[in-house]
Amino acid sequence: MFVDKVRITVVGGRGGDGAVAFHREKYVAAGGPDGGDGGHGGSVILRVNDNLSTLLDFRYKRKYTAGAGVNGQSCKMSGKRGEPLIIQVPRGTVVRDAETNQIIVDMSTGEDFVIAKGGRGGWGNAHYATATRQVPRFAKVGLKGEEKDIILELKLLADVGLVGFPNVGKSTLLSVTSNARPKIANYHFTTLFPNLGVIYVDEGVSFVMADIPGIIEGAAEGAGLGHDFLRHIDRCRLLVHVVDVSGIEGRDPVDDFNAICDELSSYSVDLSNRPMIVAANKTDLLPPDSDNLRRLKMCVEAAGCELYEISAGTTQGTKQLMRVVAEKLKTLPPVTIYEPEYVAPVAEAGDPKDITIEHLGNTWLLTGTWLERLVQNINFDDYEAINYFDQQLRRSGLFVRLEQMGIEDGDTVDIYDFVFEYQR
Ligand code: GDP
Ligand code: MG
Repeated sequence: MFVDKVRITVVGGRGGDGAVAFHREKYVAAGGPDGGDGGHGGSVILRVNDNLSTLLDFRYKRKYTAGAGVNGQSCKMSGKRGEPLIIQVPRGTVVRDAETNQIIVDMSTGEDFVIAKGGRGGWGNAHYATATRQVPRFAKVGLKGEEKDIILELKLLADVGLVGFPNVGKSTLLSVTSNARPKIANYHFTTLFPNLGVIYVDEGVSFVMADIPGIIEGAAEGAGLGHDFLRHIDRCRLLVHVVDVSGIEGRDPVDDFNAICDELSSYSVDLSNRPMIVAANKTDLLPPDSDNLRRLKMCVEAAGCELYEISAGTTQGTKQLMRVVAEKLKTLPPVTIYEPEYVAPVAEAGDPKDITIEHLGNTWLLTGTWLERLVQNINFDDYEAINYFDQQLRRSGLFVRLEQMGIEDGDTVDIYDFVFEYQR
């Protein structure tokens, strides 16, 4: 079975919790806080594997969760990081956000992609020890990992796509010109999944050609196999349209040609405008008195395309056709690599008034959307940025509130892991 589109859920590992613990040792009276941090959760990572050519592996498993971070322990022992989960995909897999259908990444270049980040580990109470604070009895819990529903869609990376009715000789053409060995038989729909072949024309001149299952009329409306498979030629730079010119199956080659062109244009305007070369195949079976070739040629030329006579069966003209294709490719733009369209949803700006203050021991934990965003956007190594941060906090009225609640000099303020001692 060939599977080329699946929907899966990816979940980053949860962060481990920070520990609350106190140093205990023989003859040492009151040890200090020594709870370690939780480990960060593992991330889910997409990786290209060139040995894969279908998304079949994803059919029966829908949820992919990376390892959780281990909780912190006493003696300031941090928990282990969660194991990352690596998902292997065929080259050319386009990843979309299931909700918006926007492209997140095109797995064509071979670079790994982090699709769901693991959650942060929580800080253990050892982190909250300051000179003035004796007994921090709290630690932070680990955060959840990112979760996303995504669609994986395989869009082959080929320079040339073969199109045409079933049984016209597409697989035969690929097999006589390349290293690929597609299944060939004299019945319709022998090609059930795409085959890729590399064609070496000259030293240093080669290209990749894809044989996709036959398009049938009405395919673009979802009538048959074809529609699903048209996506595989979406990124081809050039189409080679194979027509059975012998009419041996009782169809007319001119009708065939027009039918396929209609299919392409009802699938997408883009595809119908793709450069196309027509291969009039099975010329060895052409009855001497037939005017098929002449009529087809007129029709093809009227459509602005070139026609080449071949017989894939006897390999007559196939080399010549491949040379023409290679020449044509030199003038065409490279295979499309899709740009990401997806932007991670922007967290709400939040309101500076909405700050929650928790008072734990000598520590003041502050939370709120506005604060979180502010902290994320500040580079704390930069003096100017810290000044800006301070200004923003003052303007928000936060310090006044803290004073009213009884904050004292030397208390610790914790804003999303940015920790500082309070000074009036
Ligand atoms: P596809 O469905 O378009 O991939 O067609 P195939 O390559 O599987 O070919 C269908 C049938 O036509 C097979 O029996 C081939 O051997 C035969 N065939 C393909 N090309 C030629 C040709 O040029 N001449 C002859 N006589 N038979 C051919
Ligand atoms: Mg075939």
